[in-house]
Amino acid sequence: MNSIVTFPNRIPTTEFEERRFKVYTDRQLDKIDAIQNLPEETLFEMKVVASVLPFRVNEYVINELIDWSKVPNDPIYQLVFPQKGMLKDEHFERMARMLKEGADKKEIQVVAKEIRDELNPHPAGQMEMNMPELEGEVLDGVQHKYRETVLFFPAQGQTCHSYCTFCFRWAQFVGDKDLKMSSTEAEKLHGYLQEHTEVTDLLVTGGDPMVMKTKSLAQYLEPLLQPEFDHIQTIRIGTKALTFWPYRFVTDKDADELTDLFARLVDAGKHVAIMAHYNHWQEITTDIAEEAIRRIRATGAEIRAQGPLIKHVNDNADAWAKLWKKEVQLGIIPYYMFVERDTGAKNYFEVPLAEAFNIYREAMKKVSGLARTARGPSMSAGPGKVEVQGITEVAGEKVFVLRFLQGRNPDWVQRPFFAKYSDTATWLHELEPAFGEEKFFFEDEFEAMKKGNG
Ligand SMILES: *Cc1c(COP(=O)(O)O)cnc(C)c1O
Ligand code: SF4
Repeated sequence: MNSIVTFPNRIPTTEFEERRFKVYTDRQLDKIDAIQNLPEETLFEMKVVASVLPFRVNEYVINELIDWSKVPNDPIYQLVFPQKGMLKDEHFERMARMLKEGADKKEIQVVAKEIRDELNPHPAGQMEMNMPELEGEVLDGVQHKYRETVLFFPAQGQTCHSYCTFCFRWAQFVGDKDLKMSSTEAEKLHGYLQEHTEVTDLLVTGGDPMVMKTKSLAQYLEPLLQPEFDHIQTIRIGTKALTFWPYRFVTDKDADELTDLFARLVDAGKHVAIMAHYNHWQEITTDIAEEAIRRIRATGAEIRAQGPLIKHVNDNADAWAKLWKKEVQLGIIPYYMFVERDTGAKNYFEVPLAEAFNIYREAMKKVSGLARTARGPSMSAGPGKVEVQGITEVAGEKVFVLRFLQGRNPDWVQRPFFAKYSDTATWLHELEPAFGEEKFFFEDEFEAMKKGNG
């Protein structure tokens, strides 16, 4: 095959055997051997939380990423296994009572839905404000918030190889139709992109688009090689499969087809960026994880890394410094450190902005320049992505220095602004303008935009 000639690095993988994908959900907690030695109380707590929040973990994560001698403090254990503190006491007690009383499945689901409805699944005006239209029709599964980048949520990619306990997209996984943002409609996506020549980046996201078969992915991406899509320079694919199922890129049946697809897009002049979601260096400790990275890079695709700062998982500078170093060593470009946004389990996971900035800065101090490409800590808020750039004193007042990395109005980008310092604030809406000012510079315009979009 000529692709082997073009890409001599893409040698077939022989030393890794194909592996069956075996996954456990909330109903199979009792079948996971690794947790059967945990205290009975812990197992019960897991069941209670998993009755409300999505739970899904596969054997590879259980057997090869978690250091069971460190449980419950192991970061990957915290990343995927439900913990009591993830539910408010009142919600926990309510569900615990139901399980103890042996309530049936249907009753449990009704209460689970009531609790979930109280947990604000779509922060930052995601649903109302970013719905693009084609020929007067709203396009499901497409979001266009920032001028140059369109987000696409393919319908077949609305799940993941495991679930992260902190994930804000949980509303998509629990099968609530109203909340499901998805699309089977490649044609509509292409129609929209063809009309919007200001768009340079297509970001395919989920869930995890890498749960899709290569054939499905190719249906969306291959047409972009036509000349009418020359303005689409970059194709980004957001994924955590490099952590949760690296076999996807190495030994799965259509793994070679996948790397060939990447290579074809690269050959045709597209920048292909795999946006790898990493939280902790422990996610990149297996041979298969490294092989997956190597194979992706051999296609000419780039891997950029991003992930949120999460209490109990990676809320320390050493973990981030080690992650960034490891990424650079393997040829991955650190891109973003996110601040965790409003989620169902916010209280359990949240880290105050001041602490987030200190962790970021301490981690930066420990690494070389090549690992200092991660921006952050960054909040993906309604008006845009806002970075905490520093904590300082101006005219006797302690302040946060902030800037937009992305703005609903592109003119907001890179403009420094200031908020009163706070030890406890965890999100933009908890911050107040510094220097006695009444509003942040963008607020009136943002309010007007919200009204305009109904
Ligand atoms: C982060 C983000 C993007 C991409 O922004 P970049 O700064 O180009 O990485 C696009 N759309 C949405 C909604 C985002 O949150
Ligand atoms: S992989 Fe991404 S979408 Fe899936 S659960 Fe984790 S954070 Fe959410």
